Amino acid sequence: MHNNLYPWQTSLWQSLAGRSQQAHAYLLHGPKGSGKRALAEHFAAFLLCRSPVAQQPCGQCAACKLYAADTHPDLLRLEPEEEGKGILIASVRDLVGRILQTSQQGGRKVIIVEPAEAMTTGSANALLKSLEEPTGSTIFLLISHQFSFLLPTIKSRCVLQVCPLPNAQESIEWLQQQQSELSAEQCQTLLALASGSPLNAQKLFGSDVLAIREQVVSGVKQLFKQQSSPSDLAVAWAKMPQELIFDWFCQWAQLLLRYKITEDDTELGLPDMSVVLKHVAPRAPLTALLETQDWLLEHRQKVLRRVPLRADLLLEGLLVRWQMLLPR
Ligand SMILES: [Zn+2]
Repeated sequence: MHNNLYPWQTSLWQSLAGRSQQAHAYLLHGPKGSGKRALAEHFAAFLLCRSPVAQQPCGQCAACKLYAADTHPDLLRLEPEEEGKGILIASVRDLVGRILQTSQQGGRKVIIVEPAEAMTTGSANALLKSLEEPTGSTIFLLISHQFSFLLPTIKSRCVLQVCPLPNAQESIEWLQQQQSELSAEQCQTLLALASGSPLNAQKLFGSDVLAIREQVVSGVKQLFKQQSSPSDLAVAWAKMPQELIFDWFCQWAQLLLRYKITEDDTELGLPDMSVVLKHVAPRAPLTALLETQDWLLEHRQKVLRRVPLRADLLLEGLLVRWQMLLPR
């Protein structure tokens, strides 16, 4: 388990660990990939530690050792049985039963609920009483990526702690520390592909999304220079994740339209395509651009709904339209 804070969480940590009295429920909320889980883990270790040092878990006491071995009996977790599914009422009832028992180590009990929005209305209601009238020194740490989906009754019983993403500069610095082989531009690309989350950007780096992006961007450039045909590219891209390709083309179509109308070149997306978009936008006939965007949005839905389509034919259809944006 991850028991270290990220550098952008320092002041956040001080506001939590520095409280003169701990609340009995916290709701850590913010975008995915902001490090909420790591914060909750570190906070749990701190709350369980018998003799914290300088507002940090000591790492030496019995509680810290149990925590490090992932065997602390008073750290309980409430999660969906399967990722993406709801948290079952049965799981909540089981948890409530365990909260009522005396703590095994004679100290606090800490309960991590993740993601809190996975609780159904029934599950949330089953937990409300425990949230409201905590037994002994039980502390709840709720994690939420979708704050707006939570019931007001849950939110109102928690101390709300927003966990923001680091800014662009901090993100790039952190990413480069993790992956020293990445250039600043590659970091920027990964971050944009990961909606600004350096943690997710690092995961993307482990996948081959960056290589796919490079191949697609260079293919688009070749298409406009007539060095590649739609059918050649379609065959070359047929095995790539179609959702990614359609996401990118939808973004590009939108950026083209925006630039054509506003001529504001600060909004041209990632640097790998901005020059191309700036060149194409004034030359693309508006009707072709609007039609291409409609086509893209319609077919992106099909891709997302996994309608069975032949990838090479679909991509060829896309690229034939795309090529017409730059009339010769
Ligand atoms: Zn300790």
